[in-house]
Amino acid sequence: MKNIDLIRSAEAKAMKGEYIGKDAVLALLSIDPLSEDCSALGEAARRVASEFCDDTAIVGSSIGLDLMPCSMSCRFCSLGEKWGIYKENYVMPDDDVIELIRDSVEHGFTKFTLRTTEFYDIDTLCRLKKRISNEVPGEYVITANTGELNPEKAKKLKDAGFAGIYHAIRLREGIDTPIPADVRIATIKAAQEAGLFVASGVDPIGIEHTNEEIADLIDLYRRLEPNAVCTMKRINVKGTPVGDLEEIDDMRLAQIAAVIRLAGAGVWKNVAVHPITEQAVRWGVNNVSPELGANPRDDKYEGKEWSTGGRERAIKIFQENGYKVKSAFEYAKKD
Ligand code: SF4
Repeated sequence: MKNIDLIRSAEAKAMKGEYIGKDAVLALLSIDPLSEDCSALGEAARRVASEFCDDTAIVGSSIGLDLMPCSMSCRFCSLGEKWGIYKENYVMPDDDVIELIRDSVEHGFTKFTLRTTEFYDIDTLCRLKKRISNEVPGEYVITANTGELNPEKAKKLKDAGFAGIYHAIRLREGIDTPIPADVRIATIKAAQEAGLFVASGVDPIGIEHTNEEIADLIDLYRRLEPNAVCTMKRINVKGTPVGDLEEIDDMRLAQIAAVIRLAGAGVWKNVAVHPITEQAVRWGVNNVSPELGANPRDDKYEGKEWSTGGRERAIKIFQENGYKVKSAFEYAKKD
């Protein structure tokens, strides 16, 4: 089948909320990202985004709570103990987190993800969530991006008032990380069973990842049915084993976002990208969560206001590309 026919067929299925199928996912990922066909793919994804998210974009805030050497030593992570980049522990004081969220809510932001390293204590996280809810007035949602969950831990998050989690099955999970994919899947299922909203990711994408690997992961997500899927390029931090590799370019990142949009129609309403690019927004992305605070993709901590893209810039990009940036609180309630 010609690429253009494949794209038309995928768009028609997606518009009906039907899965385009793994073969189509693979074929769409195999299109040259710089070709006219890929532009047609991106435009189709944008139309599908319009259909399923009503041209509504969400600009969240991902707040890194801690940085500390981690014994998991994932090959792409600057916190890996083996890479020796971070030697000391840093934990953002609770008062700073609360102040940051209060200030953000006052500026109209309504979705916050508390992001931690793998072994952050779940009870400490829940206590912080309760303090935020008690001390920061307003309507907003808080999600967690933390370590593995069993049903008991997932219930603790739910009971503490977390709306959901971000949890990804990493590309080359169990190879570039010591964590088996099954463990990640069990966490996602525990969260779903506890009634938490789940966002997942095709993450972290490097130049060595094949179309087949990416298609396998998108296909797995279609079966796991998360509420949102993010596409994230790997930042190759110097000093990690991937530090000298090239990074994927914006066109490839946008192409993968477009395929995720088409593949998820009828299952996930939100498609995110990290870091934000205008190309990805043009090709089907409606959600970003710029990072504040501690960030394992950097090689140093630059203060609690530090961000890789900036929420204001994200709002501008969405607005310039036909999106209205709406209250994340209202939007989450619809899911
Ligand atoms: S990605 Fe997570 S589990 Fe892996 S080294 Fe970094 S903090 Fe540890």
